[in-house]
Amino acid sequence: MPTASTSVRLRVLPAISTLVAKRTSAESGGAVAPDHWTEGPHYAEAPQLLAAGFAPDALLLTPGDARQAASWLESLRRAPRLALLPIFLNRSFGEAVDALSDGVASTPEAAAPEAAAIAARAPSLSRRETAEGDERLLAFLYLRTERVLTPVADWRDERIYRYPLADALGRPGEDSFLMLERLRRRGLLETAGLVERVHTCPSCSAGQLLFIETCPQCGSIDTAEQNFLHCYSCGHVGTQEEYLTNEGLTCPKCAVRLRHIGVDYDRALETFVCKDCSGRFTEPNVKARCLQCRKTCGTDALSERNYYGLRLSAAGELAARTGQVGDLFKLLDEFSHAHPEYFSRTLEWLLDLSRRHEEVQFGLVCLKFANVHLLASRLPRHRVAQMFDALAQRLRALIRTTDLFMRDDDACCWLLLPQTLPAGVAILLERIVALGAAATPEEGLRIEIATASFTSADAGAGSTNARLLMGTLRSRVG
Ligand SMILES: [Zn+2]
Ligand SMILES: [Zn+2]
Ligand SMILES: [Zn+2]
Repeated sequence: MPTASTSVRLRVLPAISTLVAKRTSAESGGAVAPDHWTEGPHYAEAPQLLAAGFAPDALLLTPGDARQAASWLESLRRAPRLALLPIFLNRSFGEAVDALSDGVASTPEAAAPEAAAIAARAPSLSRRETAEGDERLLAFLYLRTERVLTPVADWRDERIYRYPLADALGRPGEDSFLMLERLRRRGLLETAGLVERVHTCPSCSAGQLLFIETCPQCGSIDTAEQNFLHCYSCGHVGTQEEYLTNEGLTCPKCAVRLRHIGVDYDRALETFVCKDCSGRFTEPNVKARCLQCRKTCGTDALSERNYYGLRLSAAGELAARTGQVGDLFKLLDEFSHAHPEYFSRTLEWLLDLSRRHEEVQFGLVCLKFANVHLLASRLPRHRVAQMFDALAQRLRALIRTTDLFMRDDDACCWLLLPQTLPAGVAILLERIVALGAAATPEEGLRIEIATASFTSADAGAGSTNARLLMGTLRSRVG
């Protein structure tokens, strides 16, 4: 057992201290009182801890510098066995590094309350050691009820902002920003305040832009600010230098002395000159040059990206606890499914076509698995997965190879049925609704499918478009 003085001495050197929760049999549920945390073995480096196979309940890090702090935290958060543990730093190492930790605590006593709160939530979390990527992130947030993922500015990152914790917990090679986007669209994460709005390149969506002032006539960047004078008597406009003589200002064209501004002359509106084409202009054309793909565009063509703080939503909490909602919908991804943009473009095209040619008939169906979250909370995970798989297979059997299938988030799926009469759409709808009933009823629970549909016969001469149409159908399935 290290005495108090040896552990203090050890912590002066870079070290990883472990904390172990002393659980009495009565406390086997996982809630450990703050005074039951004791120190375990110390390690000089993260790889030694990872190799030791020792499973602590919390970690106190004393890194030598910010780089070591980042590398320790990243490797610990990537290790399935340790990823979700409370990990504390002895001091702050900057926003991006601190975001990977559970805060600053240099003694076991200081760490204990937070560590105890995290440990208390752990037993209600399913499969936490096998979770990876988005599931590991949801589990991490579930254990820390107040935690908000905050974007951190990083000029080296082409998005300008990144979420360090999502980078560390994401699957190797996965784009963690897109992972967060998906979680947000699925309603598992919710926004907690806009942190920054970044202008991005419309061609490659990088945020590293250079703003340049160009000549509106020839596009050159070689422009300069200059004062131009306008002679009242002959109308000549020239630079101030052209008018300067030993006697003061004299018009170089008509040789009149310019004594009083507003009487003999005034300043021209143009205050810029192009050194390439000699053009004069009042305002340069501001353009943005992307430092990643080198394309240049006008500032009104730039895209925008918003960075929000993100926290777990109620649905996300449920998904973390039951660990099933995400898995279920992966089953649907086995369909050959269309990209959302391609899907809506095809719909737009069919709408156009059917307006002009009566013989072009098509159907559009929106379906929503209305009670999946409820099922997930009532039934064991593998049972819901089986029901969903059975349903997915039957659904696949109903879809022709010429139909387009698209899943735009976890709750809504779309079917676009070319060359289909209204009667055909109605038959398909009946079959889809029947699918839910057929998928093995379990304890009176079955997958409920809400549907809404549209056929080209409904279109008439109305001025509807794909986006409007899809919005209407989506609101009808609730
Ligand atoms: Zn670009
Ligand atoms: Zn020019
Ligand atoms: Zn003049």
